[in-house]
Amino acid sequence: MRLSSGFVPTVKETPADAVIPSHQLMIRAGMIRALAAGIYTYLPLCYRSMKKAMEIIREEMDAIGAQELHLPALSPIELWEETGRVKAFGDILFHVKNRPLVLAPTHEEVICWLAKNHVSSYKEMPQIWYQIQTKFRNEPRPRSGVLRGRQFTMKDSYSLDATWEGLDKSYDLHAAAYKKIFSRCGLKFFVVGASSGAMGGTGSQEFMMESNAGEDVIAVSADNSYAANVEVATSRMAPALREAVSAPLKEVHTPDIKTIDQVAAFLKIDHARLAKSVVWWAGETPVLALLLGNDELNEAKLMTAMGAEVRPIEPEKLLQLTGADGGSIGPVGLRERTPASAAFKIIADNRLKGANNLTSGANRNDYHLMNIDLERDCRIDGYFDLRTIQPGEESPNGTGPLRVVKGVELGHIFKLGTKYADAMGAKFLDEHGKEQPIIMGSYGIGVERIIACHIEQNHDEQGIIWDKALAPFMFHLIAVGTKSKAVAEAAEAIYAQMGAARLEVLFDDRGDVSPGFKFKDADLLGMPYQVIVGEKNLAQGKVEIKERRSGERTFVPKEELLEHLRQLAEA
Ligand code: ATP
Ligand code: MG
Repeated sequence: MRLSSGFVPTVKETPADAVIPSHQLMIRAGMIRALAAGIYTYLPLCYRSMKKAMEIIREEMDAIGAQELHLPALSPIELWEETGRVKAFGDILFHVKNRPLVLAPTHEEVICWLAKNHVSSYKEMPQIWYQIQTKFRNEPRPRSGVLRGRQFTMKDSYSLDATWEGLDKSYDLHAAAYKKIFSRCGLKFFVVGASSGAMGGTGSQEFMMESNAGEDVIAVSADNSYAANVEVATSRMAPALREAVSAPLKEVHTPDIKTIDQVAAFLKIDHARLAKSVVWWAGETPVLALLLGNDELNEAKLMTAMGAEVRPIEPEKLLQLTGADGGSIGPVGLRERTPASAAFKIIADNRLKGANNLTSGANRNDYHLMNIDLERDCRIDGYFDLRTIQPGEESPNGTGPLRVVKGVELGHIFKLGTKYADAMGAKFLDEHGKEQPIIMGSYGIGVERIIACHIEQNHDEQGIIWDKALAPFMFHLIAVGTKSKAVAEAAEAIYAQMGAARLEVLFDDRGDVSPGFKFKDADLLGMPYQVIVGEKNLAQGKVEIKERRSGERTFVPKEELLEHLRQLAEA
């Protein structure tokens, strides 16, 4: 491809609305243009990379015996009503105005419909079907370029199995294929495990890339062997030790003392003997959650523990219920304070199990209660993991301190089980002639995310640094000083030779562009190797090759150039 006639609209300025590097660079390098918020046109360079990513995906999917098909993007809304996902997706789902159709955000329903109507016996399973296709999601904040689009390309696959062992196998095949795909794309990633009980499934894993552009917060061990969303992450933290003797309760005056640090300093006690009280609503029930010392309450964990939506209680409401302010609330005698306070549920973090001689609020402003023995003095409705882990805490698998990082989801594998088959009545006859629901799995990879994440991980001040696997072109041929006839002719000849040898080359043959500008563009576009044809080197029979990543330059005799380039391409 020639830059003189190709469509590679590079721009110098960073667009104002692009905040993350991949978004900025994809616009500057002439890879994408936005048509509307979250809706992008993929220009030739971008689409070349996407095709490479899709080819890698196809190879690895085919290798596990998956069959490629292509499902319609429009589907009848009734399918989505059957599974309750019109409501579950809410505003994310794009509806069609003049027909009862939706633009599919994913394809479980369509696959399940296909299976229901066309797979009827255990003999026809297992099946793994996949497609690479456009998905539509009305994302509320599409502001990270193609990382979160309203229209994007997904490889989605689905497994159909007659047995749970079969599902495990289909799932494991995908897990292995995904590792290969992301590795071949040159991405550094880690795998986050999560149980997906609420989704009706039996297990799921997310393939994540560490990036400040991400919206997920993840705890990762030093060697990536443990990774979990902070909403579920745990760490090895010592519990509050139970002291041999539980001392008698004692109320102490603590004027204007509110925070845990203030209480510890004022009463000269260790944080490990302090029970912090945090009050939230779980649905319509007020909940007092007890945490050890300065441990932070994790909202998602509280929600899981209570099985309801949660929100912090309003200070006025707390005062009205208990007669005390936030800094003075505690578990002892709380339910007896007022008739309204009888409704309180009291739960505690696992670190407090069995603890005694604790200090907490006395449910009276400016007073604290010392020597609380949770078993002796209160009725705790349950112990749960309620705390947010902190960076530096020991990983639960003992592999050293945890880091807390932001991440972007590259892919997701999910054991759906019979959720969809049950909802849609997709059944098969098992070997005993008995009707059973089809057991499904679903597995997704975002194609644009691969490209954007690759750029997030591989760029510098000057521009993109493509890995060979995804580079739009392996080589960027630059004719320096096209006023020289010798240079122009030599560059043309090299371009022709490279083409004949099927080497992928982008040729900067522009006559009206200065060498400095060409070099800047080459670094911005980021092909792995720049082949520079200039007058001085040519006079010595040589051509310069610059490796984009290392900046290393080599000078190769003209007659050896093609062979040299071939070796670079194959290495
Ligand atoms: P996220 O939490 O980032 O919104 P998700 O959980 O909604 O992702 P899935 O429904 O599991 O994503 O979709 C499978 C894959 O599709 C994701 O792993 C991601 O790579 C890609 N993907 C999802 N939403 C988008 C989007 N809006 N734009 C681009 N790619 C997306
Ligand atoms: Mg999403």
